[in-house]
Amino acid sequence: MRIAIISDIHSNLFALRAVLADIYHRHADKIICLGDVVGYGPSPNECVELIKERADICLMGNHDWAVLGNEDLAYFNTFAREAVLWTQVRMSPEAEEYLRALPFIVIENDCTYVHSAPFEPQAWTYVLNRNDAVFQFSALQTQLCFVGHTHAAGIFRQKNESYEFLIENQIYIDDQSKYIINVGSVGQPRDYDARASYGIYDREMKSFAFHRIPYDIESTQYQMQEERLPAYLVDRLSYGR
Ligand code: ZN
Repeated sequence: MRIAIISDIHSNLFALRAVLADIYHRHADKIICLGDVVGYGPSPNECVELIKERADICLMGNHDWAVLGNEDLAYFNTFAREAVLWTQVRMSPEAEEYLRALPFIVIENDCTYVHSAPFEPQAWTYVLNRNDAVFQFSALQTQLCFVGHTHAAGIFRQKNESYEFLIENQIYIDDQSKYIINVGSVGQPRDYDARASYGIYDREMKSFAFHRIPYDIESTQYQMQEERLPAYLVDRLSYGR
């Protein structure tokens, strides 16, 4: 069983299509989306439609939750708030209905899937450093946990009482360790690599690998400019190129 895990699409259809094409060529058996399908980018309805069609499971993200009107927008920065408001008035009833039904956490076999973190998923906590990870490992009931939310790909490993941050592109899953794996962002990476990010977990091979996929950044930026989305959000898509 090869499980492709994607996250933080953020209404970027060009990036999502490129990632889905790559997943298709790598023959994944299953696609899990960790949420934030919408927010920031120009194509919310198209992205929801494609995720609905292709993802086996999709989790609720904080931007999805905000677009549905459930979040106090005071917690968002100016640009994110502007994009949420822009998205709210453009969502189709079908897309809204799909987002409304998304779960906050899914536990399946040896994996926990959640947008932000396993402890109180609705608190939208960021797992940014070793201390954050130590706390989240204590709330984790499975060997593996896949998260998004920070838009920065990386792996935290717990082995006995030691905790490490791994920067490898591919790891072998060791039976004695637990892992919190951030798969990065499809539609708006913030880890100084502008390419779309996602990962594949191979249960039989006991391995996990990150994949970085180039996509047509200029076309997404052009659409965002046409829609008059904030210039800062447009520029951020090409950071690290
Ligand atoms: Zn996000």
